[in-house]
Amino acid sequence: CGIVGYIGHREAYPIVLEGLKRLEYRGYDSAGIALYDGKNINVSKTKGKVADLQKRLESEMSTAGNVGIGHTRWATHGVPNDVNSHPHYSNSGDLVIIHNGIIENYASIKTELTNRGYTFKSDTDTEVLINLIEDIKIKEKVKLGKAVQIALNQVVGAYAIAVMDKNKPDEIVIARLGSPLAVGVGENEYFIASDASPFIEYTKQAIYLEDEEMAVIRIKKGIKIRKIKDDSLVAPYVQELQL
Ligand code: GLU
Repeated sequence: CGIVGYIGHREAYPIVLEGLKRLEYRGYDSAGIALYDGKNINVSKTKGKVADLQKRLESEMSTAGNVGIGHTRWATHGVPNDVNSHPHYSNSGDLVIIHNGIIENYASIKTELTNRGYTFKSDTDTEVLINLIEDIKIKEKVKLGKAVQIALNQVVGAYAIAVMDKNKPDEIVIARLGSPLAVGVGENEYFIASDASPFIEYTKQAIYLEDEEMAVIRIKKGIKIRKIKDDSLVAPYVQELQL
């Protein structure tokens, strides 16, 4: 029930971990973090508390890296367990997603993807979405942002998502419909979170995505916001956060 992300020049892990702790009030049953270590996207996740995740992650992977996303889950599809926790990889292992919300038509999409050879480790609707994105990206030969957009136009439901691609480690794609998502804007760095509390000490500049908007966030090239349905560009409205 919470999302945190960071892309920039700082170590992502402490920001994402602390951010998840600040979002604990939203309630959750599991937690997980994905970090890009300069070569791969590593994932650690667990049923339980953020403190349990911290112990587990620090014993099983490197905490180094300047890009990362973290999630607290409130299970809707699939029991709370380690495998159903987010982040979820796509079949190729290239893409990683975190998701708050529900993909209502996941079953029919899952059947279709299964017929096309996709396999699923978890019982979640979320793992279906990341493989739909991957399938579109490969089939249509489009960039990640476009693949996310096409996929979201095929799903029914509610979501705040963040997606990373190990081949595009300077980029995070986010989208929202029905779940809040804020972007903190710094100097060549961006913070992503369900509310501004995870990044308030780093920046007072925030963009709140509206429903049916998505954004491609790149370290150097900045943030590009579009309407998911009609692809029109939206000028970022940067708000000054009050203490
Ligand atoms: N529907 C997803 C799941 O059950 C996301 C739940 C959430 O909002 O945390 O895994």
